[in-house]
Amino acid sequence: MIIDAHTHIFSPAVIADRSRYTARDPFFDYLYSNPKARLVGAAELIAALDADGIDRAVIAGWAWQAQAMCVEQNTWLMQVARQYPTRVIALATVQPNAGDAAIRELRRCVEGGMIGLGEMNADGQGFDLTGENFMNLARAAVELRAPILLHTNEPVGHVYPGKGKLPLADIYALIKQLPALRLVLAHWGGGLPFYELMPEVRAAAQNVFYDTAASPLLYAPQIFRAVADLVGARKILFGTDFPLITYPKRQTEPGSALFLADVRAAGFTPAELAQILGANAQAVFHR
Ligand SMILES: [Zn+2]
Repeated sequence: MIIDAHTHIFSPAVIADRSRYTARDPFFDYLYSNPKARLVGAAELIAALDADGIDRAVIAGWAWQAQAMCVEQNTWLMQVARQYPTRVIALATVQPNAGDAAIRELRRCVEGGMIGLGEMNADGQGFDLTGENFMNLARAAVELRAPILLHTNEPVGHVYPGKGKLPLADIYALIKQLPALRLVLAHWGGGLPFYELMPEVRAAAQNVFYDTAASPLLYAPQIFRAVADLVGARKILFGTDFPLITYPKRQTEPGSALFLADVRAAGFTPAELAQILGANAQAVFHR
């Protein structure tokens, strides 16, 4: 079972009328006002999974700032999940600052068959990861046994659109307070795996996982083996950030074949590879 644990798709409404949505959401505008920034729908994702030999995808939409736009998208993603029950695992987004309305929406989505939240984005959506609103939402997620996929950034290195400033210290504060929360930190957790060599961080991070999304744009391929040595293969989830072009020099169309080949060539044992490519995602993204 191969699972891409990090993909983004958009509804026909967003794809057909992108400017209506860029006008309503500054962060979406920042990343998608350029018509070259790809928006793909559900059918295109399924076709790409078929072409690349990937069984399932965790589908995240977009972390909208407005709660109403999250709700609109969640409703559509629930339909997609019903349409492709064996191919997709759907995540909802909410605006934590909406307070009780965000928690009610999480509950509605979970009852509607969605698995958890993601990709949540503290910088993009403008919420405080350690503030009361997000903490209440995260507590509700624990209660519902719903995992959260969180966008994370490297605190150093090159700047790119969408690179935020969410401090690793905030993530540590969150997991210390709520160690039961199943948390997937995107993009290798911005370097947090290194700090898991500190016993107290390791202890707090028992339910923290790391995905590989966009890795070829960020890190040398040695990162795969290095993180497995730091935190263990059981904590790594293969994820691409599809339809992001992750190999701009070798790729013109979205697809994950090159990424998959790099993971397979990263020096994992067959057992580790099975965990990273699918078993870990199956264990994390369930309720
Ligand atoms: Zn991300």
